[in-house]
Amino acid sequence: MSSGECRLLERFCERGPIVEIIKYPHPTLRHRSKPIRRVDASLRDIVREMFALMYEAQGVGLAANQVDLPYRLFVANLGGEDRGPDEELVFINPVLSHPKGSAEAEEGCLSIPGVYAPVRRPAQITVSAYNLQGEAILKEMDGLTARVVQHETDHLDGVLFIDRLSETAAADVKDALAEFEAQFSERRSANQIPPDQQIAERLAGIEADYCS
Ligand code: ZN
Repeated sequence: MSSGECRLLERFCERGPIVEIIKYPHPTLRHRSKPIRRVDASLRDIVREMFALMYEAQGVGLAANQVDLPYRLFVANLGGEDRGPDEELVFINPVLSHPKGSAEAEEGCLSIPGVYAPVRRPAQITVSAYNLQGEAILKEMDGLTARVVQHETDHLDGVLFIDRLSETAAADVKDALAEFEAQFSERRSANQIPPDQQIAERLAGIEADYCS
């Protein structure tokens, strides 16, 4: 085993395997991720695992926060029913600009499964980012793609779609969110979720490795 492989394994052990999509109100969903400075084999493995989890949950987008990791990246596949690897999109360090127009449509989130509500966002957006090959992406987007890119970039800033609801829509989902909060408290009481401090320290450790 080369020292390079050794370091990779150590990093994998520190991080631990991705096991699930975390649910609201897990504190990592409120973490604002710092830009990634390095793309390596370990990061590519993570992206592969994220696509697998996203497909299993029948989602169209998944941000790293949602698998309890502080990386500024998300994956998406808007290819529809027959979608495959050709339609896979990876956005690393996305930056949004030039919002135009306004559109409202129903959104949901794999971290708040079963909850849907109308969200108003710019109808068009320009995104600049890097893909997994380290190539710069600059695209103007509209329709569902623009919505997904904005929803997922929000995740990387610790923002959820439920933060962007009208008063009426917020009132409609209030009880469902309270149910998620109760389930989270139960899991925490059963020691299935670590205390906030422990989660923050773990995220900071991973960030120190990938973001500097
Ligand atoms: Zn989401």
